[in-house]
Amino acid sequence: MRKSWIAVCTAVAMVFTMAVGLCMQVLLRPQAVSAFAKESMKIVLDAGHGGIDGGVVGKKTGIKESDINLQITYALKSVLEDMGFEVVLTRKTGEGLYGTTAKGFKKRDMQKRKEIILQADPALVISIHQNLYPSQNSRGGQVFYRKEDGESQALALALQDSLNGLYQEEGVKSRKASQGEFFILNCHTCPSVIVECGFLSNAADEKLLTQERGQKHIAESIAKGVLVYFSKITS
Ligand SMILES: [Zn+2]
Repeated sequence: MRKSWIAVCTAVAMVFTMAVGLCMQVLLRPQAVSAFAKESMKIVLDAGHGGIDGGVVGKKTGIKESDINLQITYALKSVLEDMGFEVVLTRKTGEGLYGTTAKGFKKRDMQKRKEIILQADPALVISIHQNLYPSQNSRGGQVFYRKEDGESQALALALQDSLNGLYQEEGVKSRKASQGEFFILNCHTCPSVIVECGFLSNAADEKLLTQERGQKHIAESIAKGVLVYFSKITS
């Protein structure tokens, strides 16, 4: 059963306070500061799909995944920048990155994303997507990481944990981070993950993912996971 908005807001406020506290804790630790200084503070956010490739479609609203991906990406950019990270976006508008829609557009689109990632030379890559499943009951976020890569796995576990916490507030059972064989995960040697923020095949998830407030909660949850990851590698 869905909890009241007050309960959800309280939980998010708590998570955010924790995140800010953790951030301060990390940044105030001298060892961590030097570790952060050594690392690039740059994070590439990749809003999946775009243009003629809309991705999956919301069962109830008919909204394109590509639009939600972009909205959540901008919400996440804002939270991460407030925390002091530098954020680089692959896709900045509703358009794809393929140039023309001629044959091979998907390959060109992915290649352009790779170019942007390589040029940015970031500390992390986070690709934002939405899920769809034949069963309308599936709910929750799921994180995929580069195969057999411990750092990507550590990042994925931190993000998965944080998203599980958010969805738990709505009574959704926890999901596990999984290895994945995706182009975007192999563009750079830095930790790279895909975050499937929720299921567009489930009405409750679709509501969360399409509302500004829900998108902000998802963004804060992902950002909290990023802080947890950095706090672990710098401690
Ligand atoms: Zn997708």
